[in-house]
Amino acid sequence: MRISANTGRCVGAGQCVLQAPEVFDQDEDAMVTLHTDRPGEAARAAVSEAANLCPAGAITIHED
Ligand code: SF4
Repeated sequence: MRISANTGRCVGAGQCVLQAPEVFDQDEDAMVTLHTDRPGEAARAAVSEAANLCPAGAITIHED
């Protein structure tokens, strides 16, 4: 599993950080940053929830 976060779409809502703080963070402008783009399978549920809750559709999960 690989994830990407589109900072061009991110609106800084922070839902991703609330769902999976071990994977997502926000910079000083509240834009999403990633601690890792390859979180382990143990994080899949939280990452999926973050992607679903992101109001901007900025988080994508890739199966590669
Ligand atoms: S939930 Fe979406 S819009 Fe909000 S900080 Fe995360 S990526 Fe950005």
